[in-house]
Amino acid sequence: MPTDPNKAVYYRKQVPLFRLVEKLKLWPSRRGLLHGIKEFEVLGTRARLTTHCGKTMIVRDSKNSRSARWLRNKLFFEACPECRIPEWKLQKYAATKFKRGYGSYLRDEGR
Ligand SMILES: [Zn+2]
Repeated sequence: MPTDPNKAVYYRKQVPLFRLVEKLKLWPSRRGLLHGIKEFEVLGTRARLTTHCGKTMIVRDSKNSRSARWLRNKLFFEACPECRIPEWKLQKYAATKFKRGYGSYLRDEGR
């Protein structure tokens, strides 16, 4: 059985952006569309990501960047219709909470 997508999951506010993106497989574009990530490749302090709708971009690893803030604060207008993000994934994201003093840092899985 998959985990309940409505179950609240807590992450630290200071969680590294790349770890967060790898976990969520979601990316908020500057235009406010939430894309699904098909490929994510870390290249040092940058990463190349490819969305399901075929866009490729280079992003920087910064927990203070626009994208990191938008991901944490769930600032997007709508999910990209071309990416077809499954409903359970959006539910799971909606149930994801970011806290300063509580939750996973996503540093080492399985510890
Ligand atoms: Zn898209």
